[in-house]
Amino acid sequence: MRKLIVANYKMNGDEKFYSLVTKKLNKLALKDARFVLCPPFVYLSKFKKHIKSGELGIQNISAFDFGAHTGEISHQMLKEFGVRYVIIGHSEVRSSGETDELIAKKVKIACGHDMIPIICVGEDKNSGLELIKSQVEKAIQYIDNSSKIIFAYEPIWAIGTKVTPTSEEIKTVVDNIKLTLEKLGFKDVPVLYGGSVNKDTYKHCLNSGCDGLLVGGASLNLDEFIEILKGVDNYE
Ligand code: PEP
Repeated sequence: MRKLIVANYKMNGDEKFYSLVTKKLNKLALKDARFVLCPPFVYLSKFKKHIKSGELGIQNISAFDFGAHTGEISHQMLKEFGVRYVIIGHSEVRSSGETDELIAKKVKIACGHDMIPIICVGEDKNSGLELIKSQVEKAIQYIDNSSKIIFAYEPIWAIGTKVTPTSEEIKTVVDNIKLTLEKLGFKDVPVLYGGSVNKDTYKHCLNSGCDGLLVGGASLNLDEFIEILKGVDNYE
């Protein structure tokens, strides 16, 4: 399976930064790795016109089609900008009240409109595999097993902390997510790892056998992000 790298820019960057992102990344010729860029909503137009390599994702989606939902963005609007991937269930969104039920509805709406959800799951220091299993099962409750989905294992305690689990620890969870999915008839679902991935940690994260990486902070340093992309592209 070709490795997938997803950049989650979160609420960072400006016009100048995103112009540079497209300019520099368009020059990149990768043979094997694929990448998806998830900017804030307001910068999507920059990518629609200028992205030539890589694909476009977004950091959230409304669970509704249209209507009186102030501040939300629909699948139809996103697709007008060429968005194909959507991060759903990020712990930073869960922590502001997003429930498993709402996540499941967002996953359903994305899959129902030909978008690929990147569903984030992860534990804090006090919870373990059972929580992750339950997050996985609930997220896919409204879709069938022919749906195209991606999972990202993101331990909350590793996000933005410069602390990463060992390869073995990541492997245990990634294998568990895959097993949970297989038991429900979802086969060959890619599972990424995210949480303090940077130029010094990406190799050991990949050694876990995950199918790619979700990169937050390190995606804001363009040279570092390109180093990671090239490194993953040459990863054996
Ligand atoms: C994230 O929040 O999705 C993430 C991976 O962040 P960071 O790489 O900064 O830990």
